Amino acid sequence: MDNLDAAQNSVYEEEEQDVDPFHEEGMNLDTEDISEAGSSDIDRLNLDSDVADKARELRRRAPGVIFTSGRRDIARQARAMAGNVVVNRRWIEQTYRSTTAIQSLQQWVNSHPNADTVDEIARGLTDLMNAMPEAQRMGISKHLSGRAFDVKPNSCPTSAITALSPRQFLQREGGLVIWHVGF
Ligand SMILES: [Zn+2]
Repeated sequence: MDNLDAAQNSVYEEEEQDVDPFHEEGMNLDTEDISEAGSSDIDRLNLDSDVADKARELRRRAPGVIFTSGRRDIARQARAMAGNVVVNRRWIEQTYRSTTAIQSLQQWVNSHPNADTVDEIARGLTDLMNAMPEAQRMGISKHLSGRAFDVKPNSCPTSAITALSPRQFLQREGGLVIWHVGF
């Protein structure tokens, strides 16, 4: 696993937090049933309206594009993170830029070595995120504020995504291949 992947592959690198690397195929299929084709798949992403417009623009440019994730609530965000932590207990600090929120989340993992299932870790991270000030919590991921969507890798050309002028376009994070598009 190359911890530098996120930074190296970020086309639009910026200061803001959001690496958000937990979208590998399969993992989210049970909780994020939004990938099927249809006119309402973008609606179901529950994105901010201007971001939803970007998703529609992407669909126009690349009709075959498959969206795999949109806005997430805290529990879903925690579960997505837990799915990676259970494999690599340093995954949070290795993946995200170090902020107070991220340090807190990693510290929770460090101080709960007996929490070794996705459920246990997700519960701990959820409780912790719920206890954070909102601004801190929202900085964890643009998915929490409805300002990011994930696309199935290679379901559209990268040029169709860069044409949207996203603030983030991440193609690999924490060793996982994902296409994350943030605005
Ligand atoms: Zn994402």
